[in-house]
Amino acid sequence: MTAHPGSIDFGPARDGVPDHAAGNDALPDLDGIVLAGDPASAGGDPDPQLAAHWDRVRDRLQQDVGEVEFRMWLRPMTLGGVDGDEVTLLLPTRFLRDWVRGHYADKLNALWQQEDKRVRRVDIRVGGVAASSDLPELPSSPLLPAAQAAAPPARVQATEARADMAAPLDPRFEFDSFVVGKPNEFAYACARRVAERPSSPGFNPLFLYGGVGLGKTHLMHAIGLELSRRDTQTIQVAYMSAEKFMYRFIAAIRSQSTMEFKEQLRSVDVLMVDDLQFLIGKDNTQEEFFHTFNALVDAGKQIVVSADKSPSDLSGLEDRLRTRLGCGMVADLHATTFELRISILEAKAIRGGTAVPPKVLEFLAHKITSNVRELEGSLNRLVAHANLFSRPITLESTQEVLHDILKAHDRRVTIEEIQKRVAEHWNIRLADMSSARRARAVARPRQVAMYLAKQLTSRSLPEIGRKFGNRDHTTVMHAVKVVAELIETDADFGERVELLRRMLES
Ligand code: ADP
Ligand code: MG
Repeated sequence: MTAHPGSIDFGPARDGVPDHAAGNDALPDLDGIVLAGDPASAGGDPDPQLAAHWDRVRDRLQQDVGEVEFRMWLRPMTLGGVDGDEVTLLLPTRFLRDWVRGHYADKLNALWQQEDKRVRRVDIRVGGVAASSDLPELPSSPLLPAAQAAAPPARVQATEARADMAAPLDPRFEFDSFVVGKPNEFAYACARRVAERPSSPGFNPLFLYGGVGLGKTHLMHAIGLELSRRDTQTIQVAYMSAEKFMYRFIAAIRSQSTMEFKEQLRSVDVLMVDDLQFLIGKDNTQEEFFHTFNALVDAGKQIVVSADKSPSDLSGLEDRLRTRLGCGMVADLHATTFELRISILEAKAIRGGTAVPPKVLEFLAHKITSNVRELEGSLNRLVAHANLFSRPITLESTQEVLHDILKAHDRRVTIEEIQKRVAEHWNIRLADMSSARRARAVARPRQVAMYLAKQLTSRSLPEIGRKFGNRDHTTVMHAVKVVAELIETDADFGERVELLRRMLES
């Protein structure tokens, strides 16, 4: 992410957390704090002068970068609004946002300044036509009253005062766009339940945990979106990353407004704090969070928290906080299986409206196993390329376009590592990987190790054969075939192999 002039950059956007106006984020900028909330741009008439500025900036940009680049990356960009000295531009996907930020932020800044001297920074965010018409106030009014579409101005005003308390929800992270499979069905069910009936006994707090890119943030946003859509009651939902919680807290201390900070937080009905592991070692903030937590739970309000580990494994969090976090429902998101990855890719391909051959989806699901975000990013890139050059997506083009990503995933797993892991898994002696024994109990694991060696390393069949007690390359070939067939026909076996692959790749 590029640092924007006139603002302090706290580093890359956290996992899936849609960026907030940096004027709000930037602690040292507090004096000149700029709220993203602009009632005029949220609901009012578009400003004709602003629209003219934007038209000219766009035209110049197009001239500068050329037609091809413009079509590929910049055409979907729309004007979000202007707030004081800050212009917000919207892109429909995170992939595009990151790309535009990385490559065009400086240019955009310069062009806007030429157009309007008052503009000090350009904020590039996810959002756009679909997002803003679905949820008109999302980008500008982060504390979401339910029924916001129909919200009378008075209520919008009331929440506006607290607009800097929370981050906006990403309208794409709905329950409907979350693909459910074995590894995440429990967490999904819990999230749904909390969205349907917040604060029900046994589900408060809801603690979601799992590795990077497995859908924690997505589920939290989905809870918020669902609650804010239902118009039967007015529920105040606040979502923020733990990091943001800390910055807000410190900002409140600096500006001697901790009372306000506390009151604002405690007035919400649902508080969601993402990536709680960030608070490890931040004792004062933890303390504050603990008190907020207690106050809310005691008042019958719902808390949703996410972290990369379970409460008991989050060493470094205060014991009493850990204990309370584990008191409600704890749900983990497991690493994805091949099957889930395929389903996710299929769903995303369908949503994207570009035909992607099943072979390519399978290839991606095999190669990119670590996190869904990367999987998604790869698919997006493929689709962008295909559209740009009006060419169909093929296995060859995939390998070409994703060259860098695939290379990074070719982690250097050694055959020795594979043999060791597989032997441990089936509880056989490591020496049996090279021994002549043919009993099924050792022969099958040996075949699996050969299969994984073929899949995870760049070694040739004869090379692999040599590492397995000087076996012939045809033996390796046979093993690869047998294991591939078994994976198809025996689900249990397939899962074991998948698990091993994941362990080796991580
Ligand atoms: P985390 O917060 O656990 O690091 P995110 O919720 O940010 O992960 O997910 C990363 C990306 O992957 C997001 O774009 C999200 O929409 C997508 N994603 C993760 N899991 C799923 C799923 N089961 N179905 C659809 N998309 C998913
Ligand atoms: Mg996250």
